[in-house]
Amino acid sequence: MIVLKSASELDAMHHANQVVHRALDAVREAAAPGVSTADLDAIAEELILSEGGVPAFKGYRGFPATLCTSVNDEIVHGIPSGKIRLRDGDLLSVDCGVVLDGFFGDAAVSFGIGHVNGEAERLMKVTKRCLDRAVDEVAPGKRLGDIGAAVQSHAEEAGFGVVREFVGHGIGRSLHEEPQVPNYGNAGRGQILKPGLVLAIEPMITAGSWRVKIDDDGWTARTEDGKLAAHFEYSVAVTSDGHRVLGLEE
Ligand code: MG
Ligand code: MG
Repeated sequence: MIVLKSASELDAMHHANQVVHRALDAVREAAAPGVSTADLDAIAEELILSEGGVPAFKGYRGFPATLCTSVNDEIVHGIPSGKIRLRDGDLLSVDCGVVLDGFFGDAAVSFGIGHVNGEAERLMKVTKRCLDRAVDEVAPGKRLGDIGAAVQSHAEEAGFGVVREFVGHGIGRSLHEEPQVPNYGNAGRGQILKPGLVLAIEPMITAGSWRVKIDDDGWTARTEDGKLAAHFEYSVAVTSDGHRVLGLEE
């Protein structure tokens, strides 16, 4: 079942996503060589709680932390740890979810630690552009396949891989609502987008093969070939005249 949100519900979701983006900004500010991913997790959790929110991932299906922190060949769902210290040249992907006043916010960003190589820089730039191009497709009357096709065409033209195993999702009073939002597909196909629909759009793009393997911790998803991955995510509402990226200043 697809749940469409009212204008006031979209405002509530905007506020939840504002807290997500503040947490991501604070994490990015603190991330540096020598800092552990557990340090970053503590910073995010404190900020979320101080804003009256609740970390959405902590306890979700047993996930133990506020953030997913995925380094280099890790794609998504990396578990923060005091043993994982960031190093110069790392590519870090950070995913954060917040519940505020009953609504979920969800966003992710990738960035470099210190000086990263040209390939990592290009991968992050292309992945962010995949997200921006997908967001540009969000409007009433467009279709889900337009989103996936926008991501896939841009990533593949750049010579990169599109992860199939994980997809974006509807979001609202639950973290994961219908519909699923694949990062691949055919333009003009799939469900028609209607005002009030909110989608978490989250391209996961790899420097090599798109194939994934899961670590023994049951969570950490990394590239099978050991090449780099990047991940960006926004929660995006369909509005009567286009879209609204929730949590960003307008
Ligand atoms: Mg997320
Ligand atoms: Mg998500």
